[in-house]
Amino acid sequence: MAFSRRNFLKYAAMSAGGTVLADTPFISAEARAKAEGGNVKYVPTSCEMCFWKCGAVAKVVDGKVVKLEGNPYHPQSRGKLCARGQGGIGQLYDEDRLKHPMILDGPRGEGKYRKASWDEALTLVAKKMQAIADKYGPESLAMMSHGSPGDYFTNVLKAMGSRNIAFPSFAQCKGIRDVAWELTFGHKPGTSCERVDLENSRVIVLFGTHLGENMHNSQNQEFAEAVGRGAKIICVDPRYSTAASKSSFWLPIKPGTDTALLLTWINIVISEGLYDKEYVEKYTVGFDEVKEAVQEYTPEWAAQETELPMRQIVESVRELCRYAPNVVVHPGRHYSWYGNDTQRARAVAILNALLGTWGRKGGMWLPAKAKFASFNDGAPAYPPANKPPVIKGDFPFAGGEGVTQVLRDTTITGNPYPIKAWIVAGTNLMKALPDQRLTRKAIDNLDLLVAVDLFPTETVMLADVILPECTYLERHDGLYKISTREAGVAIRQPAVEPMYETKPAWWIGSELCKKLGLNEYAVKGNGMDAWEGRMRRQAKVGTLILISYPSIPVMSLSQIVKNRISQRIINLFLAPFQKKSNCTVMSWKGKALIRYPNMSRLNILRKTCSA
Ligand code: SF4
Repeated sequence: MAFSRRNFLKYAAMSAGGTVLADTPFISAEARAKAEGGNVKYVPTSCEMCFWKCGAVAKVVDGKVVKLEGNPYHPQSRGKLCARGQGGIGQLYDEDRLKHPMILDGPRGEGKYRKASWDEALTLVAKKMQAIADKYGPESLAMMSHGSPGDYFTNVLKAMGSRNIAFPSFAQCKGIRDVAWELTFGHKPGTSCERVDLENSRVIVLFGTHLGENMHNSQNQEFAEAVGRGAKIICVDPRYSTAASKSSFWLPIKPGTDTALLLTWINIVISEGLYDKEYVEKYTVGFDEVKEAVQEYTPEWAAQETELPMRQIVESVRELCRYAPNVVVHPGRHYSWYGNDTQRARAVAILNALLGTWGRKGGMWLPAKAKFASFNDGAPAYPPANKPPVIKGDFPFAGGEGVTQVLRDTTITGNPYPIKAWIVAGTNLMKALPDQRLTRKAIDNLDLLVAVDLFPTETVMLADVILPECTYLERHDGLYKISTREAGVAIRQPAVEPMYETKPAWWIGSELCKKLGLNEYAVKGNGMDAWEGRMRRQAKVGTLILISYPSIPVMSLSQIVKNRISQRIINLFLAPFQKKSNCTVMSWKGKALIRYPNMSRLNILRKTCSA
């Protein structure tokens, strides 16, 4: 029987009710493997070549991964992987991978290391961490991470009483944008992916967003489809990018002047009465102030600032308004450009509010939400932070992901207290942070630098202890939620055993807890199966709640995962349990804060708005 999406929905629903799956992608995978004969298996998992977390299926022949495919039931991959995702096999079999733990055997930076056992390396790390915590306080331990490993070392640091944990992807990438949108709409414009309904957009505006060149799989698929069905693209980019080549309007703007263009567009939209009056009246506050604030930003002024033809500035925004609200000004992702980035993102959010795109078909979709009960596997609550963390500095709007440079600068100055140890997991700080000299200076101030990584990056080669993590194709990670237009829960699981002496980050973090005498925070059980045991326990107690607009179905997570984890060749991917959320319904009950640009009062305004 051909396996259609409709069939999957039917059988998935049966499974949730406790019925044995009669036909699922997992069994199909087994059937496929059988049909091919030989020692073949297909392992559904989740790609980690980037944050998009596409569902992937690994074809394994004689214990070797030979092919990766996109999981057709995963909303982030839709049966396809991007070029970087295909590189997962290259990463797995790369000769340059870190193969065993190493301990620095000479001055830092000279690259002299000796091979160590896991026991020796972790004992040394634990001993040094404890000595530093005893001398300077646990707050002198910091962790910086990207991707999955961060969870496991966050656990170690919190258990020790430190909250100095930061993720470069916040300040160096999307955090600026997220803060601006939270201050405007009360929500980020997306977490794992932006809430842009490109599938239905009639006009898509891109500010330096290189769809077609970046790796955001499902979004690129939607963008390609939008171009194919004739959606108009307005591309603001000094470079003639792939997206620019598909655009109706390419605005090769002078770098650094995007906000000038946005302010003028807002002025035109208001002064020509092109905004969504009903939406603005119902869902926003501060319209009159915005109107007054942008009056001075005329097309003549913008033409001078941006070096764009005035006619192009005016005609492009009129074209955008012609199709509103089924249009979207893309929020972008990597946002740290010029220093005025928060205000640029605010202007993008305000323009979307004026056009009424939030919650509208072709605009910004409202996410379906997957929730499951938090699960600590019986671990006690973390002790309170010994001292307040220093991850925000002068950035009061920064979120919990912290500003990595602030941790770095504190490591240099020792003010308000010393930072003496870094665990760096899955990020190359020497490349991720601006000004390498400062990063190196901070590292030179450390008593301990531990690097958890796959490859000998510039940062790894400055570490005192190197702990080799295995690739995503060799390990489990935690259950994770999908909250796109569809909601679900997915899993990452190993396609092959870890190569060399590499280990999953969950194991490294857990063993470190044990070495530090923090057994109650370690994963229960021993060996590489311990994580599966943890997921089984989570499945027993967890309740999965899939929230959609407008229905709120509730089902037991244990029902859903029953008997599946043990099969190993399974996929817990559950997203198609519900219909797509209805993009045409405006469910936003608050109001968009479009006052501009009075940032100092925004917190107060936001509270007023929420009330
Ligand atoms: S977008 Fe590409 S690299 Fe990122 S998770 Fe998906 S397939 Fe992997």
